[in-house]
Amino acid sequence: MSLLIIGSVALDSIQTPFGEKKDILGGSAVYASVAARFYCPVKLVAAVGEDFPEEHVRFLEGQKIDVRGLQRIHGGKTFRWSGYYEYDMNQAHTRDTKLNVLGSFDPKIPPEFLDAEFVFLANLDPALQLKVLAQIKRPKLVAMDTMNFWIENRREDLHKVIKKVDILLINDAELRQFMETPNLPVAARRLLELGVKAVIVKKGEHGALYFSHDEHFSAPSFPQAQFRDPTGAGDSFAGGFMGYLAKTDDLSHANIRRAIIVGSVMASFNVEDFSLDRLKRLQAHEIAERFAEFKRFSHFDAVEL
Ligand code: AMP
Repeated sequence: MSLLIIGSVALDSIQTPFGEKKDILGGSAVYASVAARFYCPVKLVAAVGEDFPEEHVRFLEGQKIDVRGLQRIHGGKTFRWSGYYEYDMNQAHTRDTKLNVLGSFDPKIPPEFLDAEFVFLANLDPALQLKVLAQIKRPKLVAMDTMNFWIENRREDLHKVIKKVDILLINDAELRQFMETPNLPVAARRLLELGVKAVIVKKGEHGALYFSHDEHFSAPSFPQAQFRDPTGAGDSFAGGFMGYLAKTDDLSHANIRRAIIVGSVMASFNVEDFSLDRLKRLQAHEIAERFAEFKRFSHFDAVEL
């Protein structure tokens, strides 16, 4: 099955305790697409400006990502995000967000993308996420991501999208902010009451939680030896998660648990280097080995009391 991904394509300027990079390839849709393409065909819908380097488009094509939905807007500049992380790299600090072409982006899904059965609305203006949902036929699964920027600026539209999607992925701090409670299970329950069928809470280096009306799952954290830049961790998690579900076409609880670990594996690789540098050189056998490690160190036997 194929996966349609819409989100931001960005030039990021990032500072972490391990270095500083300017105008590097990033964006929610880029990280999600590159992670997902290990599992299924990916169709990307996004907008860039005139200044977007052609070599990045060639890189995406080289990853076998279908870029027919990537619009280059003449006279416009590419979305830019600049941020920094301190030693607690779970917390991204935004220095500046320049929407540029995203401010006037009117997403048009190419006709040959309309039958995608799996759809991921990566982090983007919820008003644009709604425009995409209005164009697509009923897919098997729609997931979305969001962040504090949209919680603060587009709360109403965010409520509208949530009612229309199956799974919301969100990080722990943003979920607390959005649902106005420090208690994650309570916050997740409030979201389920708003109409979404399941919530995945990304907790950075502390793993991930899954909540639906009748299931709960806790994915372990990975003892990360290499950790240089957390940017894109959430998006590569989502790409791995959705890509694996699209590949297997199985929405059972057991498979959703597996997909959450696949997402955790992809995020754990992504943070090992800046931009897409680690995913670029990632090999299938490394994914299989890390998945096995996740299984091994989160296993425990029943207790006899
Ligand atoms: P994350 O997976 O949460 O670390 O996402 C990082 C990516 O999100 C960066 O590459 C940014 O370009 C992108 N990003 C930052 N702010 C926004 C925003 N307001 N809307 C869409 N994408 C964003």
